[in-house]
Order: sequence, then structure tokens, then C-alpha cells
Amino acid sequence: MTKRIFNFSAGPCTLPLPALEKAQAEFVDYQGAGMSLIEMSHRGKHYDAVHSQALANLRELLDVPATHDILLLQGGATLQFAMIPMNLRAADKTAAYVNTGAWAKKAVADAKGLGETKVVWSGESEQFKRVPGPNEISLDGDEAYLHITSNETIGGIEFNEYPDTGSVPLIADMSSHIMSRPVDISSFGLIYAGAQKNLGPAGTAVVIIRKDLIDSANKGLPAYMSYATHAPKDSLYNTPPVFAIYMMKLTLDWVKEVGGLEEMEKRAVTRSKLIYDAIERSDGYYNCPMAPASRSRMNVCFRLPSEDLEKKFIAEALDREMSGLKGHRSVGGCRASMYNAMPIEGAETLARFMAEFRKNNS
Ligand SMILES: *Cc1c(COP(=O)(O)O)cnc(C)c1O
Repeated sequence: MTKRIFNFSAGPCTLPLPALEKAQAEFVDYQGAGMSLIEMSHRGKHYDAVHSQALANLRELLDVPATHDILLLQGGATLQFAMIPMNLRAADKTAAYVNTGAWAKKAVADAKGLGETKVVWSGESEQFKRVPGPNEISLDGDEAYLHITSNETIGGIEFNEYPDTGSVPLIADMSSHIMSRPVDISSFGLIYAGAQKNLGPAGTAVVIIRKDLIDSANKGLPAYMSYATHAPKDSLYNTPPVFAIYMMKLTLDWVKEVGGLEEMEKRAVTRSKLIYDAIERSDGYYNCPMAPASRSRMNVCFRLPSEDLEKKFIAEALDREMSGLKGHRSVGGCRASMYNAMPIEGAETLARFMAEFRKNNS
């Protein structure tokens, strides 16, 4: 029997077993073609069907309106830190950013390097323990856009409510919680996400962009860097990352099969509640400093009474076939990342282990 452990890694991360098995079954001879999908032309009928179904799955599951295009790009979410200001900040405009932690800072750094940028809210003085409320952000109204990081993967905080930015386009880095709940796409100018958390393996990034922003984007950019290059070509301007997009298609087939975003949200609430409850019930043995209203359902960060105990916790969890519980090196501690494909049983197993570990190590 195949061994599968509970993988709490922050990304790349656990993927649905049915998607992996489907890929394995049809890998060497793709649907009778006598070759694998990754060996054939990206302009042939087999890949074409995969590509359009991946896009159709995204549109259907996220309920993307006709006003928005969906692009599949390379360079991860990271390249979007640069592509967004390059395309969407006119020469005489300022780009506004919300600084909620490590990923927001990277987006800000690239935007600053490329032009006029301001941070309109920062959680830094409160150790990034919460996201701003919708009324805490004030804009002049003539900013190029407002950028938020809607789930901070490293810090473990998440937006539940989005600011109303009026006519200023709202842009969100949704890398680590896209598809984990229904979202009103029409209220965003642009949403982007690296695939390797909730959508599939690493290798592609999804960009959902309002069409008028493509039309009014800055001209004269290198071809790959311009949204206007990719949109009319259905993201087939150059060779796409065919395997990543194929795996994303299979992952999203699975999301549809088990019940779509409502089901993903239910599961995310159940999983994260199991772990946050285990923290709350521990009399301070486990500690999550994040404000309860901002706590991420995807990335649950917590500390133990000492770093030695954290090391022991992570090692013993691994003995019980739970991996990836080490917090990001920049913040330390523990982090349980529980994306769409994490079974509820994984969270139950971790919650039980947390109670037992505490009993044995207090
Ligand atoms: C992982 C992550 C990124 C970086 O994604 P890459 O695909 O590695 O470039 C950016 N933002 C957030 C919120 C992330 O979680």
C-alpha cells in the first residue's frame, strides 16, 4: 500500500490523492497518444483540452465574471510583485500597500524599487498580529491601486472582510488561501496566487484581472511582463508550464467533485477550529499571539513554552507521520498549514497529539 503521511508543509504542500493517482495512471501514455502529456506539443489537441479545462475550472469554481480575464503565468506569485506596478501604476500615480507581514513586505519592496509607493497601513508596530479592519485604510482616491496580502502564510493572519476602495482597484495576493472560500471576484481589480498552496504544484501562477485594467495598462514593457501579451493569447503566448497546469486541472476537478468552495470553506473552518481550540484549551502551554478575528484558517501558527520543546514537538510529530510543522525560519515556532487537500483527519490527529504532548511535557 502507498504510504501517505499528514503533510502540514506551507507550500509546496499536500495535494488530493485522487489527482496524484490520476496523473500516475495516465502519465506514460497520455490517453492513448503513446507519449506523456509533458512530451507533446502545447499546441496539440491533448494539451489544448487540458489548458482550457484548467481555465474553465478556475472560472467555474471562483465564479469569475465575464469582466475579468484569467491568466496562467510563470515566475510564481513573486513575479507579480513586479508585474503589478509595471503594468498598473501610471507614471504620475502612487501605488498603495497594506503591510501585514513578510509577504506584503516583499510586494512593497518591489513596488518601491519601480516607482512611487506608499504604505497606508502597517501592522509592524503590533508584531503583525492582525489585519486592518475595512475602515482603517484611508485612500486619497487617485492611487493606482491598493494592494493587500489577503492571507499571510508566514505570520498566520487572514482577511475575512475586504476594504471598500471605491474607484481605486483592489489587488490581492491570495496565494495561500485562494479557493478556500467563496469570494466576490467582481470587487477586485486583480487577484493573484502561486499555485503551490491550494491549486496544484509549483510552476504556475494564476492572475485574475479586470479587462479594462489590461487595456489601460502601461505600454512598452518586455513582452512577457505585459498582461496585454498574455490575455489575447489565452496564456499561450509562450510555452506554458504544461505539467503544472495539468496537475492544477486535476486538483480542481477534485475540488468540484467534492463540493466546490462551500465545501472547501467548511473543511477549512473545521480543521482550523480543531487546532485553535487545542491551543485555547491548553492553559497557555500553546500560544497563538494572533488576534482571534484575524487568525488564518490555512496557516495556524503557535509557540510552545520553549524552543527546545518546539524542537521536540516537531520531531515527535514526525514520528507519528505528521510532517512540515516547523514555523518559517524568519519567525520560528510551529505552523500547521492546512490547505484544501488536508484531510480533516489530519487536523484531528494533530489536535490529539497536541493534548498528549502537553500532558507528557508540562
Ligand atoms: C508562497 C507565497 C508567495 C510566493 O509564491 P511563489 O510562487 O513562490 O513566488 C507570495 N505570496 C504569498 C502570500 C505566499 O504564500
